[in-house]
Amino acid sequence: MEPIYNFSAGPAVLPKEVLQQARDEMLDWHGSGMSVMEMSHRGKEFMSIAEKTERDLRELANIPSNYKILFLQGGASSQFSMVPLNLLHGKTKADYINTGQWSTKAIEEASHYCSVNTVASSADKNFTYIPPQDQWHLDPEAAYVHYTSNETIGGVEFHWVPQLDSSGDIPLVVDMSSDILSRPLDITRFGLIYAGAQKNLGPAGLVLVIVREDLLGTPLPGTPTLFDYQVHAKNDSMYNTPPTYALYITGLVFEWLKRKGGLVEMEKTNIAKANLLYELLDSTDFYRCPVAVADRSRMNVPFTLKNPALDNEFLKQAETCGLLQLKGHRSVGGMRASIYNAMPIEGVAKLVAFMKAFASQHA
Ligand SMILES: *Cc1c(COP(=O)(O)O)cnc(C)c1O
Repeated sequence: MEPIYNFSAGPAVLPKEVLQQARDEMLDWHGSGMSVMEMSHRGKEFMSIAEKTERDLRELANIPSNYKILFLQGGASSQFSMVPLNLLHGKTKADYINTGQWSTKAIEEASHYCSVNTVASSADKNFTYIPPQDQWHLDPEAAYVHYTSNETIGGVEFHWVPQLDSSGDIPLVVDMSSDILSRPLDITRFGLIYAGAQKNLGPAGLVLVIVREDLLGTPLPGTPTLFDYQVHAKNDSMYNTPPTYALYITGLVFEWLKRKGGLVEMEKTNIAKANLLYELLDSTDFYRCPVAVADRSRMNVPFTLKNPALDNEFLKQAETCGLLQLKGHRSVGGMRASIYNAMPIEGVAKLVAFMKAFASQHA
């Protein structure tokens, strides 16, 4: 059978080896006689899984000991409210950078709790670029600065980390849902990082939060217990039942990343994959990528066909070749190829070959 490549934006492709291991361990995890799905989250077997998962992540991303790692439920969207609820610290304002649909949602939610200052926005060009930092109007009284490192729908990505006042008094907060662990990162630049698992980490149902310890403990009065980071931090993410199976699979993904050489190697492969695709897009006028060259995402590559009447034919033929889920987001149209960590370079090469053949066939 021809290999299948899944370009879904999320829930997205997982490493084949991880799925095979999960299959092999499905009915009997390490001789326990149980599936991970059936284990008490407080039993010694699952505790060992959770501890190893945290340890591996700490090692992979070089996370210092003054940062807590939380494994929560509620998706990245829950963080749109948890962040202001926990990080306003008595202040009334927060700074947000608006680079697309996910930033916009974060802004809408934060507006329920504070006055949001949109310090920069790329709405003027339909969110096809990242506003350079020298054009931002940061507020010295903001409780924190929030941005989205990769806009999964628009396909724009920060290839740099915003530079805030070095005192660290105003923490930098980032939604890294769709590019976390795709490259090395300096955790100390951030107050808080969050990421829904189903793009680049594991299955849906889990959201990862990495937060500097000193930011915890003063939520807005009335914050629900489950929305208080400190409660989860004090209970090692076991205040209530964590999404155990999603956490286990994410742990297997971390082990896979370590075997692959960690984030340095991952970045090299991700650059190579993205280059393959963008080089093709730039070499023909049959296809078009709307995103400014310097801000193009390595993870989500949106593109259109010059003749949109061919869209359906493109998708149909791609599927016949084993290239799945290339349809663009309903709000954008066209195509989108998501090429997360788990997408092998062979998948991108096959997509590029297909696109070339399709273009010459319809020239
Ligand atoms: C998918 C996504 C979200 C929303 O994630 P949910 O888990 O569905 O809440 C938020 N931000 C970004 C950047 C995303 O890609």
